[in-house]
Amino acid sequence: MTAPAILAAARAQGVSVTLVPGGTLAVRGPAEARGRLLPAIRESKPALIEALTPHRRWLVHFPDVAPIDLVCCPPATRSELLEQYPSAARLEPYDPPPRAPNAPLSDAEGAKVRAWLDSIGEDDPEIRDEVLDRCETVREARDYFLGLAGEALGADNWDDQRTCGECANLIAGQCRAARWGGPLSQRPIRDLPRRCEGYAPGADDSDRRHGRERWPGLSSERG
Ligand code: SF4
Repeated sequence: MTAPAILAAARAQGVSVTLVPGGTLAVRGPAEARGRLLPAIRESKPALIEALTPHRRWLVHFPDVAPIDLVCCPPATRSELLEQYPSAARLEPYDPPPRAPNAPLSDAEGAKVRAWLDSIGEDDPEIRDEVLDRCETVREARDYFLGLAGEALGADNWDDQRTCGECANLIAGQCRAARWGGPLSQRPIRDLPRRCEGYAPGADDSDRRHGRERWPGLSSERG
């Protein structure tokens, strides 16, 4: 009997088989059912421990298509993934070395991650610094946290916004456009994403449209 089959049989009979820290198994449930299952559980103990050990990253292989590289949060076990991907031919825990990002974390990306931390009430400075540090240094961590932020905050609200830090009108912390009058603040908040009619694309912005063209009909937002 395979480990997944034993776990399925245990579930069907109201028996729970769980991994105990330290690498052993706990078997709980009705005595009669446990008695029936224990011989198979003992015989397949290494396979069951392996099946119940969670991993953060998996390669899921299918018979006819390329494998899926899956990042699981929280980490998932082999048996949990087999329930999600019953047609998988093979599951392979996969722990690649961390990769550095291609570019520094932009002001907008940093602001998005900070806004997400605010939205979940995370105010521990050490944890906030650690999350932002991981976003600065590990590509997968950046993708992961930006993905979470996008889901939580709504991608539509963020994807087209720009921060003053990305705007060519911000010079030495002062908004040059504010000198021309209107509602703009002379010293705007640098990292706050916004849609501003005074926006002028900075050197790193591949979209060269200015604010009025980019967000037609917009009234300037106050900084
Ligand atoms: S307030 Fe508008 S114009 Fe001024 S720096 Fe920010 S984005 Fe640029």
